[in-house]
Amino acid sequence: MDKKSKIFDCVILGGGPAGLSSALYCARANLKSAIVDISTLGGTPFNYCEIENYLGFDKIEGDKLCEKFENHIDNFDIEKFPFEEIEEVDLVSPIKKIKTLDREFLAKTVIIATGAKAKKLGVKGELEYIGKGVSYCAVCDGAFYKDKIVSVVGGGNSALEEALYLTRFAKKVYLIHRRDKFRADEIVQKRVFDNKKIELVLNSVVEEIIGDKKVIEIRILDSLSNKTKNIKTDGVFPYIGLEPNVEHFASQVELDKLGFIKTDCSMKTSVQGVFAIGDVRNTPLRQVITAVSDGAIAGVEVAKYIINQKEAVVK
Ligand code: NAP
Repeated sequence: MDKKSKIFDCVILGGGPAGLSSALYCARANLKSAIVDISTLGGTPFNYCEIENYLGFDKIEGDKLCEKFENHIDNFDIEKFPFEEIEEVDLVSPIKKIKTLDREFLAKTVIIATGAKAKKLGVKGELEYIGKGVSYCAVCDGAFYKDKIVSVVGGGNSALEEALYLTRFAKKVYLIHRRDKFRADEIVQKRVFDNKKIELVLNSVVEEIIGDKKVIEIRILDSLSNKTKNIKTDGVFPYIGLEPNVEHFASQVELDKLGFIKTDCSMKTSVQGVFAIGDVRNTPLRQVITAVSDGAIAGVEVAKYIINQKEAVVK
């Protein structure tokens, strides 16, 4: 692409389900669009073991579903730019600018679909042992824990689903949660309760991850008895929620108090011509199906916005 030679109707930042879905709707509205992603396209579900709540598929591996999404958009004229790291953005000007290490994209509209990343526990040893026993991706690293002991932290869908996935490899999985109630879907909770390899460690918080070159044990505090104990573990998988990938946009679009991008029901942000979709926005539900739905709405709204802008110029 020639530098500055082209103005896209829409540049979509993030190639997960939300971004890919918005690209499809932009393409069907005959808009010139580009998808820019720091990595390969596919997004977070690429690392999900199995998805069973995406309508039309009884069960499908995350990477297979992402592959289907990408194959689908390949039927349309959408430019794809994987492995482009954003350096700087100007979202406020009428023509938006996105600078990556190698390129500059110009666009009439931008859809932010950069998703969210795993929150850190923030305890001693966590950062030190990343890749040496601490992992945020059971699908990527689970197989390294064959016949070993692992600990999953959290009480949401991610923690419980990934704990179940890890039982395929590990001989024992501790599920450590700070309360005695889980927020994961009931059906997933039941599977966890029925799984003999999973031992629940409730009302407990991880205080430290201890190791010697790699993780050996964790220290946990029982918040009821106020006593600490150490648990031998070879791996720690924190799944304690998400934080939005907004570092390049935070000063330009309005965020909610948790840092997610505020949108209205048309996916419009506080900045004209800028939309946000999927896990990065203040959505009540973070699922593949809702991300895809956000993308569809944003694609249609971008098309309307561009028509309105054209009409305003003609008048
Ligand atoms: P989540 O639903 O926000 O759950 C985070 C869990 O971590 C909560 O149980 C929370 O405890 C706990 N937690 C938060 N901060 C903690 C801390 N500092 N120390 C210890 N524990 C902490 O996050 P998620 O499970 O990653 O899911 C994110 C979103 O993706 C959710 O909307 C979820 O439904 C969705 N998701 C859906 C699927 C699916 O549908 N198949 C799969 C994965 C994720 P409390 O409960 O006490 O707050």
